[in-house]
Amino acid sequence: MDVVKYKKLFQIAKKLHSSLDVDVILGELFVTLKEVYPNFSYFLLLSMDTYSHSDLPIIELEYDNENIMAIKTFASGNVQFESSHFEKHAILYAPLKGKQGVYGVLQVIAPETSEFPAMEVEFITLLSECAGGALENAQLHQQSQRTISDLQLINETSHQLNSNRPMTETFTFMSAKIKTSFEAEEVGFFLFSQDQAKAKALPGSTSYFFTRQARVYIDYIKGKLQKGNEPLFLGDLNLSEKNYGTSFHSIMAVPVVVSKKLKGFCIIMHRSPYFFSFESFKLLQSLVHHSSLALTNSILREELKILVTTDHLTKLHSRKFLDDKIQRSMKNDEEGTFILIDIDNFKEINDTYGHQIGDEVLIQVANLIRGNIRENDVGARWGGEELAIYLPKVPLDTGVAIAKRLVKKVSECSVPHITVSCGVSYWNKEKHDSYQYVFKRADEALYTAKETGKNKVVIQDDNIRAS
Ligand code: GH3
Ligand code: MG
Ligand code: MG
Repeated sequence: MDVVKYKKLFQIAKKLHSSLDVDVILGELFVTLKEVYPNFSYFLLLSMDTYSHSDLPIIELEYDNENIMAIKTFASGNVQFESSHFEKHAILYAPLKGKQGVYGVLQVIAPETSEFPAMEVEFITLLSECAGGALENAQLHQQSQRTISDLQLINETSHQLNSNRPMTETFTFMSAKIKTSFEAEEVGFFLFSQDQAKAKALPGSTSYFFTRQARVYIDYIKGKLQKGNEPLFLGDLNLSEKNYGTSFHSIMAVPVVVSKKLKGFCIIMHRSPYFFSFESFKLLQSLVHHSSLALTNSILREELKILVTTDHLTKLHSRKFLDDKIQRSMKNDEEGTFILIDIDNFKEINDTYGHQIGDEVLIQVANLIRGNIRENDVGARWGGEELAIYLPKVPLDTGVAIAKRLVKKVSECSVPHITVSCGVSYWNKEKHDSYQYVFKRADEALYTAKETGKNKVVIQDDNIRAS
């Protein structure tokens, strides 16, 4: 090999090894080849399908009959030759070799000859070895970068999870993290009901998972996970014929398992097929695995909170919950209506039918309350046989109508027959008021209702106010 070529090789080696970018390394390799051998043609057969260069002659190295020599080169790590008398060219296959393995094969075609020019073999071999080494460096570098960012993600997530934040906040955080780290379009967390029949999307999941269209994906994954408990890595799922909305082809799903029990799962989706890499699948598994305990803890904490804020007999909200809700509403809303409800002659019911029937009557009234109000309204057990409804942002006349409807319904539907009395109070931002007086006005009104015949609604005396 002549001095000029050695010099060239030295220069390119320096360049290749100073780059950690696979694109730059491969581009440089082709530039050099073109410069030194303008009459030859070249192809690079790469074993990894991750590089999709449109402008470089890169072919995926496939294991088929047409590629015997390339495969041989790849497997042995040694240069191979091939010549075709018919096509009048000679081919050299040089491995792109690093310390840990062979990364691809450089195919060089010399035209108009039946034997590859011996003079050039050394240069090309050295050049491709050089490129192989650089490629290996770049890949190791990429891998370590990825490992670092994966560890950072896991670290940050467990930190957040262990900070005892409210469940919604935790899942919103996880969801956002996963969305950016995996470039996912949709991220969902699901919790199984006790009997595992239902999977409920947890707050923090992307909004798509709360739509009806998402159900086909959720049910499909739920079914698969319940069968196997194994994480799912789907590159090209086609459920589109059952789904009229957007179709997602790339799906990863990891079960949340605590003490060998399937508690829930995490789904991440993308519309493009084969969008997620296997690396990211492993990362998601490790992330969910690390978070399982903390996730279920935060779910349990939430359940405990519901338990504390729910009355166990009527399943209405507790007094404490109602108090908080009214106080918050008086800070944030413009107006609101409060209804205090008391069962008429309840003592008689207990005395006549026994306490158990008394309890059932209480439950009946609670159910009628629940059926009479909307999601943002609060039905609560005030204490004993006194119940209450708070209607945020609801004007007095609407509140009174709701109370009247309830009084009528109870009288019509209850078995054994009972009636209730209601006292209604109302506040708005225009008049100075306080929670204490809102309650007092309702209580006074209820007293009046009892005094004037029961089974009725009485509206507040407006004069009872803080000032
Ligand atoms: P009024 O029409 O004036 O409200 O008469 P009342 O009999 O309903 O009122 P009173 O306050 O004299 O009695 C309330 C009764 O409600 C007494 C108590 O035993 C009963 N009670 C309170 N809580 C419960 C409960 O959880 N279950 C049952 N079965 N009874 C309850
Ligand atoms: Mg009472
Ligand atoms: Mg009563």
